[in-house]
Amino acid sequence: MTRRLHREVLWLVLLLLTPCAVGLGQELAIEDAAVYTSPDAPLRSHVNIVIHHGVIASVGEQVRIPKGIQTISCNGCVVLAGFWNAHVHFMEPKWNDAAHQPAERLTRQLSEMVTHSGFTTVVDTGSDVENTVALRKRLESGEVLGPRVFTAGIPLYPAHALPYYLADVPAEIKAKLGQPDTAEDAKSLVDKNRAAGADLLKLFTGSIVSPNRITPMKVEIARAAAEEEHKGGGLVFSHSSNLEGTKVAIDAGVDVLAHTPEVTHGIDEAVLRDMITRHMTIIPTLKLFSQDHDIAEIRGLDYRFHQRGGRLVYGTDTGFLPDYDQGEEFRQLMAAGFTFRDVLEMLTTAPAALFHLSQREGKVMPGMRGDLTVLSDDPASGGPEAFTKVRDTVRGGVVIWSADK
Ligand SMILES: [Zn+2]
Repeated sequence: MTRRLHREVLWLVLLLLTPCAVGLGQELAIEDAAVYTSPDAPLRSHVNIVIHHGVIASVGEQVRIPKGIQTISCNGCVVLAGFWNAHVHFMEPKWNDAAHQPAERLTRQLSEMVTHSGFTTVVDTGSDVENTVALRKRLESGEVLGPRVFTAGIPLYPAHALPYYLADVPAEIKAKLGQPDTAEDAKSLVDKNRAAGADLLKLFTGSIVSPNRITPMKVEIARAAAEEEHKGGGLVFSHSSNLEGTKVAIDAGVDVLAHTPEVTHGIDEAVLRDMITRHMTIIPTLKLFSQDHDIAEIRGLDYRFHQRGGRLVYGTDTGFLPDYDQGEEFRQLMAAGFTFRDVLEMLTTAPAALFHLSQREGKVMPGMRGDLTVLSDDPASGGPEAFTKVRDTVRGGVVIWSADK
């Protein structure tokens, strides 16, 4: 038996031995709900939803709820596809030793950080890869309740140019941060990260080395790293910071800017067109910049990108930002000009498309994953705050957070 086959058989056995693995045998119904089945669909009322084996089985006004199934009575709620937050970090000390912490404690920490905001999937864009993979294993077994986690593992920085805001990071963590000097170094760091379980790559193509100075990554190093990641099938995210860092990202084949470039100077129509032609995505993270004097310009850049056909995906740097509240991000997005339907797209169908998962998730339709975010208010009329009024978070037919509890 080959090693690969061996591993697959082992996985199958483990899966069969794990009765509560997410997606297996998860049954749930939601009764008399108002539903946005997708960001561009009209609101439907008095709808029943049945999830069977973790997958949406039926959605409709005439759908019968099977006897004995766990049922959420909607009572004025609004059901949406499960939200994504495509920029978080499991880097605070409280996540250390995720392999051995009590399950209840991890579940509580996850609810405080992400699940109480309705996130059924999060993308960790930089953390200690072994630790985050250990956390994910416990989530996937069903022992810890929380979102699906994709992780970038350990990011790559330009050589000798760590961001100034990492100054206080402990020396043993700093020693792990990749700062490749050559294309070969970059490739081997990417391979090591993927072997440890990372799903994607994060590059600092523009590293903020002091409050007023940004050091770009050499384009040949960024390109070598991105090509290596793409060979393994992963997406490449970058923190580009300014025009120079954004150009490196474009030239290197980066897929996603993990932030709006904070220094917008020189990012003109031609640069935006270039990014859109290359199918690049932007994660706004506007709350992070909300104290900047030029926040209106940063917001404006996102909106122009959107108007010209660029894809934006919701993300907030939660976990780097110690304040987990999502309200400011929604307020900033709507101040930029985005409608509630645009924001819903950023939370659901856009990230599903980015991760090539549109066939199976992002909408409330039969055959899609049973990932749902249940609000107590309708964002069409309730404004940006409505997105934060989460009543239940459902992942694969399992209620992973509820305001009632
Ligand atoms: Zn971040």
